[in-house]
Amino acid sequence: MKPDPARQAVDILRGVGPQLAAKLAARGLGTLQDLWLHLPLRHEDRTRLTPIAQLRQGQPAQVHGRVEAVERGFRGRPMLRVAVGDDSGATLVLRFFHFRAAQVQAFRVGSRILCHGEARGGQFSMEMVHPSYRLLDQDAELVLGERLDPVYPAVEGIGPVQLARIINHALDHLPNDDTLELLPATLFGDTRLPSWRDAVRLLHRPPADVDHAALAQHRHPAQQRLALEELLAHQLSLRRQRLAMKRRGAPALNPPGELARKLLAALPFALTGAQQRVLDTITQDLAQNQPMLRLVQGDVGSGKTIVAALAALTAIESGAQVALMAPTELLAEQHAQAFQNWFTPLGIELVWLAGKVKGKARTAALERITAGAPIVVGTHALVQEHVAFANLGLVIVDEQHRFGVHQRLALSDKGRNAPGTARDNAGERIPHQLVMTATPIPRTLAMTAYADLDISVIDELPPGRTPVQTVAINAQRRGELIERIRAACIEGRQAYWVCTLIEESEDPPAPGVPKIDAQAAQSAYELLREQLPEVNVGLIHGRMKPAEKQSTMAAFKAGDIQLLVATTVIEVGVDVPNASLMLIENAERLGLAQLHQLRGRVGRGAAASTCVLMYQTPLSQLARERLSVMRETTDGFRIAEKDLELRGPGELLGTRQTGLAGFRIADPVRDAALLPQVQAAADALLARAPQQADLLIERWIGHAVRYASA
Ligand code: ADP
Ligand code: MG
Repeated sequence: MKPDPARQAVDILRGVGPQLAAKLAARGLGTLQDLWLHLPLRHEDRTRLTPIAQLRQGQPAQVHGRVEAVERGFRGRPMLRVAVGDDSGATLVLRFFHFRAAQVQAFRVGSRILCHGEARGGQFSMEMVHPSYRLLDQDAELVLGERLDPVYPAVEGIGPVQLARIINHALDHLPNDDTLELLPATLFGDTRLPSWRDAVRLLHRPPADVDHAALAQHRHPAQQRLALEELLAHQLSLRRQRLAMKRRGAPALNPPGELARKLLAALPFALTGAQQRVLDTITQDLAQNQPMLRLVQGDVGSGKTIVAALAALTAIESGAQVALMAPTELLAEQHAQAFQNWFTPLGIELVWLAGKVKGKARTAALERITAGAPIVVGTHALVQEHVAFANLGLVIVDEQHRFGVHQRLALSDKGRNAPGTARDNAGERIPHQLVMTATPIPRTLAMTAYADLDISVIDELPPGRTPVQTVAINAQRRGELIERIRAACIEGRQAYWVCTLIEESEDPPAPGVPKIDAQAAQSAYELLREQLPEVNVGLIHGRMKPAEKQSTMAAFKAGDIQLLVATTVIEVGVDVPNASLMLIENAERLGLAQLHQLRGRVGRGAAASTCVLMYQTPLSQLARERLSVMRETTDGFRIAEKDLELRGPGELLGTRQTGLAGFRIADPVRDAALLPQVQAAADALLARAPQQADLLIERWIGHAVRYASA
């Protein structure tokens, strides 16, 4: 039997020995197919020349000319400038900041040079910064490329030229027939897309006459063809994961009973229609002997917590354990407090578990969990090895975009084969899963990112909220703002002062980021205490001890602290309805999602709230747009849509969100128009050709797919 060409290991390629193979493997490139799908990020066109006089700002081009002058200088840092002229009579300046002495030597006035780079307007002429270039012998024949050059995503330890050569060898093994075609011809209707093989080949080796503009804008049919397939593979993988989970059993939980009724009666408010509707759906899910897999989306402040609490009571009343996991300790603590307030009067004990719970307290917590404590609230400490539940029936994950899918699954694994509750069913069982997020995204995108989940939306805010008024103010007017806080606090209002990263040096801030944030908060705190002697100022940041954080939050809740200086640790979940003023320093540095979350900390009570976005000038275009979006709307969906436009999905949904991260060629936002087709194709394929589905998943996502063991 002939070996499957796609699955052949990379070391069959000429020049690829064990060391190189190991470097490729470290990047997930183990087979020829992996190399075929290591697709270029972009292409460079060296098939033609552009006269210098015709260079255009921002456009990449290749130029052939002669060196007219070489100038080496220091303007703060070393710099090499090489003036190049051609027959068009204009001059192009090549500018280098990193260079070796030998490189400088090689440039001689009169040398022939062929260079490629992006042209931009310089002071007196067009410039290229760090172009790629080649010096030619005086009488050498000028040979231009026959194809566009692919530029590949880097692989650590392998230079770009070598990588291109390896991939080129791999392409020589691409079968000439359609053996690797996985999409049935009719799957996407008659869209006249190229075959898989032609698409792959074209993207690696685009001919000189290819529509380069289409390629650069990702609308070439070859790109569309592969993007469709990749989106389909991701969709299939999530659906598979879902099917695998649904095949397991789950404890069927009774509808809400006495406990839920008591809690509802004790609340100072009635559920909104949207909360009630979502709760009813959850109740129906929980009554099934298949696991619930539900995502509840609801804008900041829409009241997801109480819905979660009522779902928890349903489970508890049926004799199952509930685990609630939140991404930050601060948020988890807030939930623990809220749940304790609600549940203690009902005689339900709560167990708190975070990484910082140590020693005896930890042992005690673990014992109570194993003994069947009805509700456990904590951070990702809940998924640690030593945590064993007696009878976990419902897993709730808040702000799930902050977690990876794996953490959610790890938590639900804790409830595998838990002993049964009253209505049992045979086979392996896992808990019900309720995940909550305040990141609202457009529906088709949600169905792509969360194809393994059912989605409910709490699309209504509790009554009596007045929308937060948002203003953007230059930080130079800080003095005025401080007066405003003074006045507000004297009136009995409470305020947040949020400090974000202040760039104190040009050094890469990598590991020190939170520290700098904390320092900024510390100094703002000291300054504000001085300037506002009549106001009680508090401080909270991520580097404080949990007990300190907790007592500060409690004092702010109780109104003893009037002005809370904070880092972005308060971004998620903090709930102090009396706080009605928020100032955000360096707001221009934050993304829309983060600004929206932060602003969601005010506007929670009846009082009209204000959010002041302080910014430093000069503002970038992007920052300007973000600030104006924030001023215009408080609607989380509109903000998310704008955010997607400005940033793309990875950051919005969290890079660890496997649903959308790590695409090779597709971009679910740019390619949003393809998504409905993809969903329909996934249905068709799962129904009619499940083996093809497996192969597609293997091709694009690999063997490491989690559903196998979910
Ligand atoms: P989020 O959806 O952002 O997690 P929370 O659950 O923290 O929102 O709720 C925000 C605030 O609204 C809390 O103070 C909560 O007690 C309150 N709340 C929740 N539901 C209602 C309601 N139906 N009517 C009035 N207030 C409510
Ligand atoms: Mg919340």
